[in-house]
Amino acid sequence: MTPFQQIQHHMQTALASLANQDEFSGCDVTQVLKPYHFHERTLSIHTENGERALEAFRVQFNNARGPYKGGIRFHPDANSEEVKALAGAMAVKCAVVDVPLGGAKGGVMVDPKTCSVAEIEAIARAYATSFSDVLGVDQDIPAPDVYTTPQIMGWMLDAYERVVGRSEPGMITGKPQSIGGSLGRENATAQGGVYIIEEHMHRTGVAPEDVRVAIQGFGNAGAHVAKLLHDRGYLIVAVSDSKGTLYNPHGLDPIAIENAKNKTRAVTGLYCEGTVCDLDALDRDGAEVLDAEAVIGVDCDLLVPAALDNAIRNDTVDSVQAHTILELANNPITPEADAVLHERGVVIIPDVLANAGGVTVSYFEWVQNRQQLYWTEEEVAEKLHTRMLHAYSEIYTYAKEKDVSLREAAYTIGLARILRAMKDKGHITA
Ligand code: NAD
Repeated sequence: MTPFQQIQHHMQTALASLANQDEFSGCDVTQVLKPYHFHERTLSIHTENGERALEAFRVQFNNARGPYKGGIRFHPDANSEEVKALAGAMAVKCAVVDVPLGGAKGGVMVDPKTCSVAEIEAIARAYATSFSDVLGVDQDIPAPDVYTTPQIMGWMLDAYERVVGRSEPGMITGKPQSIGGSLGRENATAQGGVYIIEEHMHRTGVAPEDVRVAIQGFGNAGAHVAKLLHDRGYLIVAVSDSKGTLYNPHGLDPIAIENAKNKTRAVTGLYCEGTVCDLDALDRDGAEVLDAEAVIGVDCDLLVPAALDNAIRNDTVDSVQAHTILELANNPITPEADAVLHERGVVIIPDVLANAGGVTVSYFEWVQNRQQLYWTEEEVAEKLHTRMLHAYSEIYTYAKEKDVSLREAAYTIGLARILRAMKDKGHITA
């Protein structure tokens, strides 16, 4: 299945129950499966080695509930199917946490690790300029995603404002605070996921110190969730990045790992220089260095995929030992692996809920930009907490009542809100 087919699979499962509801009877609910607009453009970048042409995408999936909203990723594997899938999931996510926004996503097919800072700035500016006709505070609002940062959002905002000839900070979120970014946005994705895990463990009667956590990915989502869970007493037993996994059943210190990663660009840098590791230090601490994929199968209670799509699939699902999975990454489990885990009784907190803290604080940033009135970090945290817990509670209750997975519950609740808006706007008719 392509990534888009995977998202459509989750949507169709939810639609099967929605189509029978009186509210939508006679409506063509399948209209919600298709993106409203697909934009594909070629960016021309001037580099030290001459002109470069890069494929870029913006998928505007659905705006029935409000302006399109979704991040932009810079990745060599970014492609139209993936961006369509992520845009569809954004529409559902915004509806799940009930923020008045639609769904979109963007991507540039480029490996940022091979680019200079000047080239990254040129790509950011070219993207915002090229797509300026379809972006805007009331039209479509981008944000950071994989390998894009607040600085990149700042360059995009500047390029966009030069085209339209006015200040419009609300056209993009996740930007630096000096130009209208919200307090609390940087760790919002992880913070939202942590609020949900705390509530989930509380409801299921599990204490933090009894939860051993493995985290795949040590970027924005992964590093922040490691630090937040560690601070709350959870035992972090494994973290990984694209270069390897660090495993210690006695517990790891995320701050020490972050310092090592900043210096060496690898989590294994805590013990290794390149491929040469300090075996005495590993032995003394009871730690092990494993390959990047090994994190999926380490002995733990809570697994947090926080890197890329399809980390848990047919060939890795049998190794999973965790009883709970918090999907901070988008689309980290294939539908086939999802079915296997569900059958085994593994609880999966789905991406459209688990990582919705990011878009929720992006929504808060947009509201603050529009009002020109800024909130304290405590206000942002309190509002995020309320919204995440409300969404979790609705989904948990629905899943229990209907005896379905949390994913099916989340998609059903989200799609019902989107379909209601589509019906009320006449995008679909009975
Ligand atoms: P990031 O670029 O900050 O970090 C990505 C991390 O993944 C890096 O540490 C990288 O080394 C690691 N990685 C890449 N390939 C890997 C592999 N094969 N094995 C292990 N690790 C690997 O990106 P991010 O913003 O943290 O996003 C991570 C995931 O979370 C993505 O799926 C993204 O869509 C999702 N997400 C992020 C946000 C946000 O606000 N940042 C919001 C919602 C969802």
